[in-house]
Amino acid sequence: MANVYIGLGSNLEDPLSQLQIAVEQLKSLPETALVGCSQFYGSKPLGPDDQPDFINAVCQIETQLSPPVLLSALQQIEIDQGRIKKRHWGERLIDLDILLYADKIIKTTDLTIPHAEIALRDFVLIPLAELSPGLVIPGLGSIETLILNLETSYLKPLIHL
Ligand code: AMP
Repeated sequence: MANVYIGLGSNLEDPLSQLQIAVEQLKSLPETALVGCSQFYGSKPLGPDDQPDFINAVCQIETQLSPPVLLSALQQIEIDQGRIKKRHWGERLIDLDILLYADKIIKTTDLTIPHAEIALRDFVLIPLAELSPGLVIPGLGSIETLILNLETSYLKPLIHL
C-alpha cells in the first residue's frame, strides 16, 4: 500500500457539501482506504479575484492504485460530481489533486508529483502539516520549513469533519 495525500478544493455550489461528497467518493475507491482528513479551511482564490473564496482540505489515503490509475479515478470523481472549470485558476465545483504519492518523484506529461505548486500553497501545506507533522516532501524538504517560507497565508479553519 502507498501512503498518498490528495488535495481537495471547491468554490461553487455549496463548496462544503462538494468536499464532503468528494471525501465519500475517496472512501469508495477500489483498493484504497481513507486514513484521515484535515479540517476544512477557507482560502482566498489564487487566480482571478472576482470569484468566491475556496474551501480546501487534504485527505490521506492508503492505496494500491498506481499513480496514473489513481489520477484517472480522481478525474472520474470530478466528472461524476460535475466538473465545471470556467477559466485557468478560476472557479471549480471540485478539484482533486495528487499532492504526494509515497516518496515518489514523477514527471510525465499527465502527472507531476509532488504536485507542482505544493511549496507555494498555504491551503495545501498547512493541512498536510496538520495530518502529518514532520512530513518531508521529496526534493523540497520539511513541511514546517516550507510553511515558514510562505509569504502570506489567508487560511482560516472552518469545521472538523
Ligand atoms: P487542474 O484541473 O488545474 O487540476 O489540472 C488538471 C491537469 O493537471 C490534468 O490534466 C492532470 O493530468 C494534470 N496534473 C499534473 N500533475 C497532477 C497531479 N499531481 N494531480 C492532479 N492532476 C495533475
